Amino acid sequence: MITTRYAPYGALKNNTLNERVEDFVAWVNREAEAQGLPHHIPKDPHGPIGLARFRRTLAWHIARQPGGLIALAIQYGHLRTVLDARTSSGYASRSRSRSRHRIHSVLDVETALAAADTAARLRDRVAADENISGSAARRALTAAAQVPRFKGRIVSNTFVRKASAFLARNGVVLFDNPDAFLICAFKRENALCEPDPDANAPRQYDCRPGCGNAVRTDTHARLLRERAGEIYQLSAHAPEPVGKRMRANADRLRETTETHDATAHRAEAWA
Ligand code: SF4
Repeated sequence: MITTRYAPYGALKNNTLNERVEDFVAWVNREAEAQGLPHHIPKDPHGPIGLARFRRTLAWHIARQPGGLIALAIQYGHLRTVLDARTSSGYASRSRSRSRHRIHSVLDVETALAAADTAARLRDRVAADENISGSAARRALTAAAQVPRFKGRIVSNTFVRKASAFLARNGVVLFDNPDAFLICAFKRENALCEPDPDANAPRQYDCRPGCGNAVRTDTHARLLRERAGEIYQLSAHAPEPVGKRMRANADRLRETTETHDATAHRAEAWA
């Protein structure tokens, strides 16, 4: 018989959810030990994980897994659009000013940190003499040079305000989109993924070819070529017409790399 210390009715309260997060950690560790697995969730020196800190994990996935490397990321992507609507429905305690732990603030912080990482990666590729393509290349390079360096991962109230002010600068925030093999230099007016009128992030899971915000480096082009090759190989073992669709998809990816090769320039040429 299953016994529970939780009330079997009513909405879940914060305390109950906090306990469930801890119970989940204990269950994972018990199972890992029982199955002889080498991994476990270590004891956290900062105390129980709790809901406030779990929000940051959720925000990390929304900010950095735009297209679904894990299945739930797709849901997280949709969650971002729900949150970004920023209307008055009250979802997830939308009043942004009351606490740095509210989901909007936490999401802003993770998005700003992810954008700073993307800018740093673009700077590294420029430093390695990679070519850049895309009509937003100049804007992306300027943004990468100007983006603030966020030091550390401790979230203070000042940092929350800085992150949200940074994200409000339409056209200078860079979003990594590994599933589409590009960097999105997000400018609302250009976006083909139809973000909400006041959104401060693209709908990356619905990234569309030919968007004026897309920027690619030689690394993106190489990864695209590799992906096209993989799809071709897989298509040989797929039944028709699935195989035919896969080859058409691989052809599109190859065309994108050819466009990159034909139009990409070193950063100096975009200056
Ligand atoms: S469609 Fe454009 S704005 Fe939207 S994610 Fe793709 S590149 Fe960014």
